Amino acid sequence: AQRTLILVKPDGVKRNIIGDVISRIERKGLKVIALELRTIEVDTAHAHYAEHAEKPFFGELVDFITSGPLVALVAEGDRAIEAFRALAGATDPVKATPGTIRGDYALQVAQNIVHGSDSPESAEREIKIFFPELV
Ligand code: ATP
Repeated sequence: AQRTLILVKPDGVKRNIIGDVISRIERKGLKVIALELRTIEVDTAHAHYAEHAEKPFFGELVDFITSGPLVALVAEGDRAIEAFRALAGATDPVKATPGTIRGDYALQVAQNIVHGSDSPESAEREIKIFFPELV
């Protein structure tokens, strides 16, 4: 089975929708095998979003992701990466189909509720950052 790193970002925690996001993951048939609520350090945010370091929105992204507690979890199942990205919907929540997490809950790309790994390589890298004991 495949593993993916999922974040309920600080906007999702503030809006009290942790339970709904986890319910959708479980309803789909993915298994939650690690889970933690915590506020991450700037260093951890830089490591997680390393590929965006040169983007104009990087500063905003790091400020936001470190602004309060988030939920990090690892979900496991067949094609877990693709399965969760389908549940999450498009990065731009206005374009995300209603019925997806972002399509149902968000309007702004900077506050789009969840993150999910986008490839097996990203998943391995991101799981190491959040759950080093799992690898
Ligand atoms: P994620 O990696 O979080 O699952 P994604 O792969 O769908 O998102 P990316 O293009 O990798 O999207 O962007 C990473 C994150 O950066 C997005 O989830 C979003 O919250 C944020 N982001 C993307 N574009 C912008 C922007 N123009 N302004 C602010 N934040 C942005």
